[in-house]
Amino acid sequence: MRRPDRPFLAALLLAAPLCHSVLAADPPPEKRLELLERTVGEERERLQRLSRESEFQAHELETLRNRAIAVAASLQATEDSLTALERRLVELPDEMTTWASLHAALLSPLARDRRAPLGVGGPSRPIGDLEPIDLLLAYVHDESQRLRALGRVTREAGGILAALPSRLPLSSAVNSGFGLRRSPWTGEPEFHAGIDLAATTGTLVKAAASGVVRSVDRAGSYGNVVTLDHGRGVESRYGHLASIDVIPGQRVELDQRIGLTGNTGRSTAPHLHYEVLVAGKPVDPRQLIAR
Ligand SMILES: [Zn+2]
Repeated sequence: MRRPDRPFLAALLLAAPLCHSVLAADPPPEKRLELLERTVGEERERLQRLSRESEFQAHELETLRNRAIAVAASLQATEDSLTALERRLVELPDEMTTWASLHAALLSPLARDRRAPLGVGGPSRPIGDLEPIDLLLAYVHDESQRLRALGRVTREAGGILAALPSRLPLSSAVNSGFGLRRSPWTGEPEFHAGIDLAATTGTLVKAAASGVVRSVDRAGSYGNVVTLDHGRGVESRYGHLASIDVIPGQRVELDQRIGLTGNTGRSTAPHLHYEVLVAGKPVDPRQLIAR
Protein backbone atom coordinates (compact mmCIF):
# COMPACT_ATOMS: atom_id res chain seq x y z
CA MET A 1 0.00 0.00 0.00
CA ARG A 2 1.16 3.48 -0.97
CA ARG A 3 1.76 5.92 1.86
CA PRO A 4 -0.18 9.10 1.56
CA ASP A 5 2.03 11.98 0.61
CA ARG A 6 2.11 15.37 2.31
CA PRO A 7 -0.15 17.35 0.09
CA PHE A 8 -2.87 14.73 0.56
CA LEU A 9 -2.55 14.94 4.35
CA ALA A 10 -2.69 18.72 4.20
CA ALA A 11 -5.85 18.55 2.16
CA LEU A 12 -7.35 16.10 4.63
CA LEU A 13 -6.48 18.41 7.50
CA LEU A 14 -8.04 21.34 5.70
CA ALA A 15 -11.20 19.39 4.94
CA ALA A 16 -11.57 18.08 8.48
CA PRO A 17 -13.38 21.13 9.93
CA LEU A 18 -15.76 21.07 7.01
CA CYS A 19 -16.57 17.40 7.59
CA HIS A 20 -17.11 18.15 11.19
CA SER A 21 -19.53 20.96 10.42
CA VAL A 22 -21.51 18.68 8.07
CA LEU A 23 -21.73 16.06 10.76
CA ALA A 24 -22.80 18.75 13.27
CA ALA A 25 -25.73 19.94 10.87
CA ASP A 26 -27.22 16.45 10.87
CA PRO A 27 -30.30 16.95 13.20
CA PRO A 28 -30.97 14.74 16.15
CA PRO A 29 -33.69 12.03 15.80
CA GLU A 30 -36.48 14.09 17.47
CA LYS A 31 -35.67 17.01 15.21
CA ARG A 32 -35.76 14.72 12.20
CA LEU A 33 -39.18 13.40 13.23
CA GLU A 34 -40.45 16.92 13.49
CA LEU A 35 -39.03 17.65 10.05
CA LEU A 36 -40.65 14.54 8.68
CA GLU A 37 -44.04 15.46 10.18
CA ARG A 38 -43.81 18.90 8.68
CA THR A 39 -43.01 17.43 5.28
CA VAL A 40 -45.93 15.02 5.58
CA GLY A 41 -48.21 17.93 6.57
CA GLU A 42 -47.05 19.94 3.60
CA GLU A 43 -47.57 16.94 1.29
CA ARG A 44 -51.09 16.48 2.68
CA GLU A 45 -51.92 20.13 2.03
CA ARG A 46 -50.54 19.86 -1.47
CA LEU A 47 -52.66 16.78 -2.11
CA GLN A 48 -55.75 18.53 -0.75
CA ARG A 49 -55.05 21.49 -2.99
CA LEU A 50 -54.63 19.20 -5.99
CA SER A 51 -57.87 17.42 -5.10
CA ARG A 52 -59.71 20.74 -4.90
CA GLU A 53 -58.26 21.79 -8.24
CA SER A 54 -59.28 18.55 -9.85
CA GLU A 55 -62.82 18.92 -8.44
CA PHE A 56 -62.97 22.42 -9.87
CA GLN A 57 -61.77 21.17 -13.25
CA ALA A 58 -64.37 18.40 -13.20
CA HIS A 59 -67.03 21.02 -12.55
CA GLU A 60 -65.65 23.14 -15.36
CA LEU A 61 -65.78 20.16 -17.68
CA GLU A 62 -69.41 19.50 -16.74
CA THR A 63 -70.30 23.13 -17.47
CA LEU A 64 -68.56 22.95 -20.84
CA ARG A 65 -70.36 19.71 -21.65
CA ASN A 66 -73.74 21.25 -20.82
CA ARG A 67 -72.91 24.27 -22.90
CA ALA A 68 -71.97 22.04 -25.83
CA ILE A 69 -75.31 20.23 -25.53
CA ALA A 70 -77.19 23.55 -25.53
CA VAL A 71 -75.27 24.78 -28.58
CA ALA A 72 -76.02 21.53 -30.39
CA ALA A 73 -79.73 21.90 -29.57
CA SER A 74 -79.85 25.51 -30.80
CA LEU A 75 -78.01 24.50 -33.98
CA GLN A 76 -80.63 21.84 -34.55
CA ALA A 77 -83.41 24.38 -34.01
CA THR A 78 -81.76 26.79 -36.47
CA GLU A 79 -81.44 24.01 -39.00
CA ASP A 80 -85.11 23.11 -38.56
CA SER A 81 -86.25 26.69 -39.10
CA LEU A 82 -83.96 27.01 -42.13
CA THR A 83 -85.52 23.89 -43.57
CA ALA A 84 -88.97 25.36 -43.04
CA LEU A 85 -87.87 28.65 -44.64
CA GLU A 86 -86.40 26.76 -47.57
CA ARG A 87 -89.73 24.97 -48.07
CA ARG A 88 -91.58 28.31 -48.04
CA LEU A 89 -89.09 29.79 -50.52
CA VAL A 90 -89.72 26.88 -52.86
CA GLU A 91 -93.45 27.69 -52.75
CA LEU A 92 -92.78 31.38 -53.38
CA PRO A 93 -92.81 31.42 -57.22
CA ASP A 94 -96.37 30.02 -57.22
CA GLU A 95 -97.48 32.52 -54.64
CA MET A 96 -95.86 35.39 -56.57
CA THR A 97 -97.73 34.45 -59.73
CA THR A 98 -101.00 34.36 -57.79
CA TRP A 99 -100.37 37.75 -56.22
CA ALA A 100 -99.28 39.32 -59.50
CA SER A 101 -102.44 38.18 -61.27
CA LEU A 102 -104.57 39.25 -58.32
CA HIS A 103 -103.08 42.72 -58.41
CA ALA A 104 -103.56 42.92 -62.15
CA ALA A 105 -107.20 41.89 -61.73
CA LEU A 106 -107.69 44.51 -59.01
CA LEU A 107 -105.98 47.36 -60.79
CA SER A 108 -106.73 46.84 -64.47
CA PRO A 109 -110.42 47.95 -64.36
CA LEU A 110 -109.36 51.10 -62.50
CA ALA A 111 -106.51 51.74 -64.92
CA ARG A 112 -108.81 52.39 -67.89
CA ASP A 113 -108.78 55.90 -69.34
CA ARG A 114 -105.97 56.95 -67.06
CA ARG A 115 -103.09 59.14 -68.11
CA ALA A 116 -100.44 57.57 -65.86
CA PRO A 117 -99.79 53.85 -66.07
CA LEU A 118 -100.38 52.00 -62.81
CA GLY A 119 -97.26 49.87 -63.05
CA VAL A 120 -99.09 46.55 -62.85
CA GLY A 121 -97.07 43.44 -63.55
CA GLY A 122 -94.79 40.85 -62.05
CA PRO A 123 -91.04 40.38 -62.51
CA SER A 124 -90.13 40.12 -66.16
CA ARG A 125 -86.98 38.00 -65.76
CA PRO A 126 -87.20 34.22 -65.79
CA ILE A 127 -87.50 33.06 -62.19
CA GLY A 128 -86.14 29.56 -62.76
CA ASP A 129 -82.46 30.51 -62.46
CA LEU A 130 -82.84 32.78 -59.41
CA GLU A 131 -81.87 31.78 -55.89
CA PRO A 132 -84.82 31.71 -53.48
CA ILE A 133 -83.49 34.68 -51.53
CA ASP A 134 -83.10 36.75 -54.76
CA LEU A 135 -86.60 35.71 -55.66
CA LEU A 136 -87.85 36.88 -52.29
CA LEU A 137 -86.11 40.25 -52.65
CA ALA A 138 -87.46 40.70 -56.18
CA TYR A 139 -90.92 39.80 -54.93
CA VAL A 140 -90.76 42.29 -52.05
CA HIS A 141 -89.60 45.00 -54.49
CA ASP A 142 -92.37 44.34 -57.02
CA GLU A 143 -94.94 43.93 -54.29
CA SER A 144 -94.12 47.29 -52.70
CA GLN A 145 -94.42 48.99 -56.11
CA ARG A 146 -97.82 47.40 -56.68
CA LEU A 147 -98.95 48.39 -53.19
CA ARG A 148 -97.92 52.00 -53.86
CA ALA A 149 -99.90 51.93 -57.12
CA LEU A 150 -102.88 50.45 -55.31
CA GLY A 151 -102.56 53.16 -52.65
CA ARG A 152 -102.65 55.88 -55.36
CA VAL A 153 -105.73 54.34 -56.95
CA THR A 154 -107.44 54.02 -53.56
CA ARG A 155 -106.71 57.67 -52.72
CA GLU A 156 -108.04 58.84 -56.10
CA ALA A 157 -111.09 56.62 -55.81
CA GLY A 158 -111.68 58.09 -52.34
CA GLY A 159 -111.38 61.59 -53.83
CA ILE A 160 -113.88 60.79 -56.59
CA LEU A 161 -116.30 59.31 -54.06
CA ALA A 162 -116.00 62.45 -51.94
CA ALA A 163 -116.67 64.66 -54.99
CA LEU A 164 -119.80 62.77 -56.09
CA PRO A 165 -123.07 64.59 -55.35
CA SER A 166 -124.82 62.67 -52.60
CA ARG A 167 -127.97 64.86 -52.45
CA LEU A 168 -130.69 65.77 -54.93
CA PRO A 169 -131.01 69.45 -56.03
CA LEU A 170 -134.62 69.36 -54.85
CA SER A 171 -136.73 66.77 -53.14
CA SER A 172 -139.66 65.51 -55.18
CA ALA A 173 -140.89 62.52 -57.17
CA VAL A 174 -138.90 61.20 -60.12
CA ASN A 175 -141.03 61.58 -63.26
CA SER A 176 -138.59 59.83 -65.52
CA GLY A 177 -135.65 57.63 -64.55
CA PHE A 178 -132.09 57.24 -65.86
CA GLY A 179 -131.34 55.05 -68.87
CA LEU A 180 -133.49 53.70 -71.71
CA ARG A 181 -137.00 55.09 -71.98
CA ARG A 182 -139.61 55.69 -74.58
CA SER A 183 -139.33 59.21 -76.04
CA PRO A 184 -142.27 61.40 -74.91
CA TRP A 185 -142.25 63.00 -78.40
CA THR A 186 -141.58 60.17 -80.84
CA GLY A 187 -142.46 57.08 -78.77
CA GLU A 188 -139.14 55.56 -79.89
CA PRO A 189 -136.60 54.16 -77.37
CA GLU A 190 -134.05 56.76 -76.28
CA PHE A 191 -131.33 57.10 -73.70
CA HIS A 192 -132.16 59.47 -70.84
CA ALA A 193 -128.85 60.77 -69.44
CA GLY A 194 -130.36 61.98 -66.14
CA ILE A 195 -133.51 61.97 -64.09
CA ASP A 196 -136.53 64.26 -64.33
CA LEU A 197 -137.68 65.62 -60.98
CA ALA A 198 -141.24 66.85 -60.70
CA ALA A 199 -141.45 70.55 -59.88
CA THR A 200 -143.74 73.44 -60.67
CA THR A 201 -142.14 76.51 -62.23
CA GLY A 202 -140.11 78.56 -59.78
CA THR A 203 -139.03 75.76 -57.42
CA LEU A 204 -135.65 76.39 -55.81
CA VAL A 205 -132.76 74.40 -57.37
CA LYS A 206 -129.79 73.79 -55.06
CA ALA A 207 -126.23 72.65 -55.87
CA ALA A 208 -126.00 68.91 -55.26
CA ALA A 209 -122.37 69.26 -54.15
CA SER A 210 -119.85 72.08 -53.79
CA GLY A 211 -117.85 73.05 -56.85
CA VAL A 212 -117.36 75.67 -59.55
CA VAL A 213 -119.83 76.75 -62.25
CA ARG A 214 -118.39 75.20 -65.39
CA SER A 215 -120.89 76.63 -67.87
CA VAL A 216 -124.21 78.40 -68.25
CA ASP A 217 -126.23 77.88 -71.44
CA ARG A 218 -129.52 79.34 -72.56
CA ALA A 219 -130.11 77.71 -75.95
CA GLY A 220 -130.47 74.08 -76.90
CA SER A 221 -132.56 71.11 -75.84
CA TYR A 222 -131.62 71.56 -72.17
CA GLY A 223 -133.04 75.10 -72.25
CA ASN A 224 -131.49 77.24 -69.51
CA VAL A 225 -128.87 74.90 -68.09
CA VAL A 226 -126.13 75.11 -65.45
CA THR A 227 -123.22 72.69 -65.31
CA LEU A 228 -121.17 72.45 -62.09
CA ASP A 229 -117.64 71.02 -61.85
CA HIS A 230 -117.04 69.16 -58.57
CA GLY A 231 -113.46 68.17 -59.37
CA ARG A 232 -111.99 64.72 -60.03
CA GLY A 233 -113.91 64.59 -63.33
CA VAL A 234 -117.30 64.78 -61.60
CA GLU A 235 -119.94 67.20 -62.98
CA SER A 236 -123.64 67.85 -62.38
CA ARG A 237 -126.13 69.45 -64.77
CA TYR A 238 -129.46 71.21 -64.12
CA GLY A 239 -131.73 71.74 -67.15
CA HIS A 240 -134.98 73.43 -68.27
CA LEU A 241 -134.51 76.21 -65.68
CA ALA A 242 -136.71 79.28 -65.71
CA SER A 243 -133.89 81.45 -64.31
CA ILE A 244 -130.20 81.12 -63.50
CA ASP A 245 -128.58 82.72 -60.42
CA VAL A 246 -124.89 81.88 -61.04
CA ILE A 247 -122.20 82.81 -63.54
CA PRO A 248 -119.40 80.71 -65.09
CA GLY A 249 -116.35 80.37 -62.84
CA GLN A 250 -118.32 81.12 -59.69
CA ARG A 251 -117.66 78.98 -56.62
CA VAL A 252 -120.80 77.34 -55.20
CA GLU A 253 -121.31 75.43 -51.97
CA LEU A 254 -123.50 72.41 -51.33
CA ASP A 255 -127.20 73.42 -51.19
CA GLN A 256 -126.47 76.90 -52.58
CA ARG A 257 -129.26 78.27 -54.81
CA ILE A 258 -128.30 78.13 -58.50
CA GLY A 259 -131.65 78.87 -60.14
CA LEU A 260 -135.37 78.16 -60.39
CA THR A 261 -137.14 75.33 -62.24
CA GLY A 262 -138.96 76.01 -65.48
CA ASN A 263 -140.00 74.58 -68.81
CA THR A 264 -137.29 75.86 -71.19
CA GLY A 265 -135.79 73.79 -74.00
CA ARG A 266 -137.05 70.39 -75.04
CA SER A 267 -139.52 69.88 -72.22
CA THR A 268 -143.16 68.79 -72.15
CA ALA A 269 -143.96 70.44 -68.80
CA PRO A 270 -142.16 72.22 -65.92
CA HIS A 271 -139.65 69.91 -64.22
CA LEU A 272 -135.92 69.71 -63.42
CA HIS A 273 -133.64 67.59 -65.59
CA TYR A 274 -130.78 66.58 -63.28
CA GLU A 275 -127.69 64.83 -64.59
CA VAL A 276 -124.38 63.62 -63.08
CA LEU A 277 -121.34 62.94 -65.25
CA VAL A 278 -118.15 61.10 -64.24
CA ALA A 279 -115.26 61.50 -66.69
CA GLY A 280 -117.80 62.80 -69.23
CA LYS A 281 -120.09 59.78 -68.95
CA PRO A 282 -123.58 60.06 -67.43
CA VAL A 283 -124.30 57.97 -64.33
CA ASP A 284 -127.59 57.38 -62.48
CA PRO A 285 -127.80 60.21 -59.88
CA ARG A 286 -130.03 58.09 -57.67
CA GLN A 287 -127.21 55.56 -57.22
CA LEU A 288 -125.16 58.29 -55.53
CA ILE A 289 -127.71 59.47 -53.00
CA ALA A 290 -126.61 58.93 -49.40
CA ARG A 291 -129.10 56.71 -47.60
ZN1 LIG B 1 -134.62 64.78 -68.45
